[in-house]
Amino acid sequence: VRRFDVVVIGSGPAGQRAAVQAAKLDRTVAVIDKRRELGGVSINTGTIPSKTLREAVLDLSGRRERLLYDSAPARPPVPIRDLLQRATQVIQHERRVVQAQLARNGVRVFEGAGRFAGPNQVVVEGPGETVTLEGSTIVVAVGTAPAQPPGLAVDHHRVVTSDDVLHLERLPRTMAVVGAGIIGVEYATIFAALGIEVTLIDKRTEILDMVDRELVAAFATAARRLGVTMRLGEEVRGIEALDPDHALLLLRSGKRMATDLVLISAGRHGATGDLQLDRAGLGADERGRIVVDEHYRTAVPHIYAVGDCVGAPGLASIAMEQGRHAVLHALGMPTAGPTRQFPFGIFAIPEISWVGPTEAELTAQDVPFETGVARYDEIARGQILGDEEGMLKLIVHLETRELLAVWVLGTQATELVHIGQTAMVLGGNLDFVVNNVFNYPTLAECYKVAGLDAFNKLRALGALPATTVTPAS
Ligand SMILES: Cc1cc2nc3c(=O)[nH]c(=O)nc-3n(C[C@H](O)[C@H](O)[C@H](O)COP(=O)(O)OP(=O)(O)OC[C@H]3O[C@@H](n4cnc5c(N)ncnc54)[C@H](O)[C@@H]3O)c2cc1C
Repeated sequence: VRRFDVVVIGSGPAGQRAAVQAAKLDRTVAVIDKRRELGGVSINTGTIPSKTLREAVLDLSGRRERLLYDSAPARPPVPIRDLLQRATQVIQHERRVVQAQLARNGVRVFEGAGRFAGPNQVVVEGPGETVTLEGSTIVVAVGTAPAQPPGLAVDHHRVVTSDDVLHLERLPRTMAVVGAGIIGVEYATIFAALGIEVTLIDKRTEILDMVDRELVAAFATAARRLGVTMRLGEEVRGIEALDPDHALLLLRSGKRMATDLVLISAGRHGATGDLQLDRAGLGADERGRIVVDEHYRTAVPHIYAVGDCVGAPGLASIAMEQGRHAVLHALGMPTAGPTRQFPFGIFAIPEISWVGPTEAELTAQDVPFETGVARYDEIARGQILGDEEGMLKLIVHLETRELLAVWVLGTQATELVHIGQTAMVLGGNLDFVVNNVFNYPTLAECYKVAGLDAFNKLRALGALPATTVTPAS
C-alpha cells in the first residue's frame, strides 16, 4: 500500500487541477488514469480535437476567404488527413503540457483503472503490477462516456460517437447527426462547412433549449445557410446497415434516411460504473452521476467528486475550477466559494456564448428588464471580418441598470463574452458600458453600441434617474 495525502482518480481538467492545487500546498499527490494519454476527454477526444478541427475546417475549406473575396478560387475537397494532422499536433502538445505540469509539481502518475477497495483505498489495475493507494483525501474525477441509446448500435465505422471522429478514415458525402445538443450542433456545422450534406435530427422540437431564443433563431438561419437540414420532433428508432458503407436511419414517423455516416450525440453518462463506489459507501444515479454538496464533497466527507461525473454543466472550464475548489476545501484553505457567474461557449459555426440567464428565464422570474442589441453588420470590424450574421445582446435590469446577461453570436463570441462577464462579476452596470471607450474598429465596440441601444430605450421609458449622465455618443 502506498500512502498519499491526496489521491485523484482521472487526469482530465478536473483531476489535473485538483492534483496540481494539492501539490502546490505541499501535499503528496497521486493521479490515476486508465488511459496512457493524460488529459481526459478534454484533450484526447472532446474539447481540443473538436475545437482544432473547427479552426482547420475554417482555414482549409476556404470559407473565411470566400466570405471576404468574390474572386476566391473554389478549393478542392479537404483531405481528412490534413484536418486530423492538425488536431493530432495540438493534442500531442497539450498532453505534453499536462505531463510536464504534473511532473514539475511532483505528482505521481499511475496508469490503470482505479476502483475503491475501501473508503480510503483505491486499487489500480493497469499494464504494470496492481497497486493499492491510500489517500487521506480522495478526489473522483472520472468524467463521462458517450451515452448509447438502445437500438442505436455504434459500429465505429458508419455509426460513430464524438469519440470516433479522430479515427474517421474518410470524409462522408452525407451525414446524420442524432442529437442537437451542444456537441451535435458543433459537429453538424463543422462538417457542413466542409460541404458535407448534414441532417441534424432531434426528438425535441427546439435546438439548444438553454440558449436565448433570439440567438437560436439567428443561429438556425446561419446553420441552414451553411447546409444543415434540421429534422426536429423526429425520433430515430433504429439504424440498419444498408451496405458496407451506408447506414439506414429508421425514424419513428415512418421516414427512412440513407446516409454515409451517423454521428450519435445523445448525451453522456458518468464513467463511475467500474469504480466500486459501494466499497467506499457511495453510489451513483441512473446516469452515473455522483451527488455532491456545494463544495463537491460526497456523502463520505473525505471523498470529493468533481467535473463531468457530478453532472451539469459539463464544461472543461468549470471542471478545472471544481477540482481546485474541492482540494482547497478538503485541505481547509479559504476559497472564494464555488463559481456562480460563469460563461458558456458553443463552438459551432457561428459561435454562441453567454453569461447570465435568457430573456425567457428572467420573464418567468418576473424580473423587469430591457435589452440592447448590436449587430456585427453595423460594426466596422464585423464588415472587415466579413461576418454579417453576428450579434451581441445585453440584458439590463429596468430599474437598477444592472447587467443581467450578455448573449453573443458570431466571430469571437466566446472571447467577447468575458468583457461582459468581468463587468457583471465586478458589479458594473449599463453605465460602465456606455461611458467607456472601446478600441475601434473591434468587435468589442458591440458593447458600446448595444449599451447605447439599451440606454436610449430606458430613457424613452423614463427609467433613467434625472442625475444620469448622458453619454457623449
Ligand atoms: C466533443 C466534445 C466537445 C467538447 N467541447 C468543450 C468545449 O469546447 N469547452 C468546454 O469547456 N468543454 C467541452 N467539452 C466538455 C469537456 O470535455 C468536459 O467537460 C471535461 O473533459 C470534463 O473533465 P473531467 O476532468 O470531469 O473528465 P474527463 O475529461 O472525462 O477525464 C476523466 C478521466 O478519467 C479517466 N478515468 C475514468 N474512469 C477511470 C478509472 N476508473 N480509473 C482511472 N481513470 C479513469 C479517463 O480515462 C479520463 O482521462 C466537450 C466534450 C466533448 C465530448
